[in-house]
Amino acid sequence: MTSGNPTSPPVAVAAPRRRLALVAELVQRYLDEILAEHADVTDGALADYIPELTRVDPSKFGLALELTDGFAYESGDARTQFTIQSISKPFTYALALDRIGNDAVDRKIGVEPSGEPFNEISVDDRTKTPKNPMINAGAIAAVSLIPAADPQERFAQILDFYSACAGRPLDVDEDVYRSEKASNSRNRAIAYMLQSFGVLDDDPDDVLDVYVRQCAIRVTSRDLAEMASTLARGGVHPATGRRVTSAAAVQRTLSVMMTCGMYDTTGDWVTSVGMPAKSGVGGGILAVLPGQLGIGVYSPLLDENGNSVRGGRVCRTLSARLGLHFLSVTRESRSIIRATRDVAPRVRVYELHGDLLFAGAEQTLRTVENDRADVDVAILEVSKVDDINDTARAMLAGMRESLTAVGKEGYVVDPDRRVIPTDGRSAGAVVFGTVEDAIAAARDHVETQAGNANRVG
Ligand code: GLN
Repeated sequence: MTSGNPTSPPVAVAAPRRRLALVAELVQRYLDEILAEHADVTDGALADYIPELTRVDPSKFGLALELTDGFAYESGDARTQFTIQSISKPFTYALALDRIGNDAVDRKIGVEPSGEPFNEISVDDRTKTPKNPMINAGAIAAVSLIPAADPQERFAQILDFYSACAGRPLDVDEDVYRSEKASNSRNRAIAYMLQSFGVLDDDPDDVLDVYVRQCAIRVTSRDLAEMASTLARGGVHPATGRRVTSAAAVQRTLSVMMTCGMYDTTGDWVTSVGMPAKSGVGGGILAVLPGQLGIGVYSPLLDENGNSVRGGRVCRTLSARLGLHFLSVTRESRSIIRATRDVAPRVRVYELHGDLLFAGAEQTLRTVENDRADVDVAILEVSKVDDINDTARAMLAGMRESLTAVGKEGYVVDPDRRVIPTDGRSAGAVVFGTVEDAIAAARDHVETQAGNANRVG
């Protein structure tokens, strides 16, 4: 593969990562730590049934996490390019749903978990159609459902759609494309079987060529996180706010990812990670927390099911550490900041409500960070917060640490000590029982700072 190739086009993504020191420090630390925890794992093997895939660097390890407002974090080799492989499947399926509607797609592809390997030569016993769009049979059928005059136009539509989700023009790794094309008997068997059952209306070799090409599209972990975040926002691209596909297509796609995305290990995945996800034999994993964020991981050593070993471990740890299991965060996903008000010169109160979980805490800290030019003391009023998890607690405590390092302050107003308990778990936080007390302390702080500045001056 050409991931390290100096002639490959530059990856045109996002502004410098360290833009926001405070949030970057906290969230960045989580991600870096999680990556470091799994860095020594060398289990697994490169996919070798596509010969070109054995030429990638097995040590590469990248992670990116993107919030649904388009803000992204990266750790490790998050800009290394690799081929998307089966992570293409949900996107082509979404495109087919969007273009011809659920009923027309359902006539050709089922939505039931197969419990079989991804390249099984099989159709459903009763319907004689592929069991789901996440195995090769269903994915090849999905390609054939994209309306187009010819294979070139069909591929162009697919590439355009993936690029719109990633927010940059993607391209194909020609070496991987040619390599899979030359070693593709299994998928040819599948395509001809589908033709014999009347699932494919077009020439099987033409359809397969588009499928192999789509699998060879190059992405980075950062791209995957952005594509995942687009799905998390129900089909709206996080950075541009542009709708790239319908909410209905995304809902259906995420459902199928949830039940079929990780092949025969899907049950374990849903239980322990709890995010709709898709893996590819290129070493990538894409995971979506609807309404909140998207994740992209890359590590090319695979387990016996064709899933990235370290990628899977990272997703498990992220889910556990940041509280991302979808069944624990189905409640509040709208803005956590209800109102802000300036209560004294350079003192601002942020009124929070709803459930304060990872994404909400991240959003709060980022807002405080953005206000830093105008605000010396940030007061977070959390009395209307319904629930908070340990990650959010630690983040609020960490916020103060970062602020005091630059002569500023962060206080929490938490009358019932529900949010920041007294058991020392969030030792860094300064907690007040009333807003008035917090404001009085804030005024003192601003005056002291001004006094110090005068003395120095
Ligand atoms: N291109 C690969 C194939 O069709 C994709 C498989 C995968 O990533 N699981 O076999």
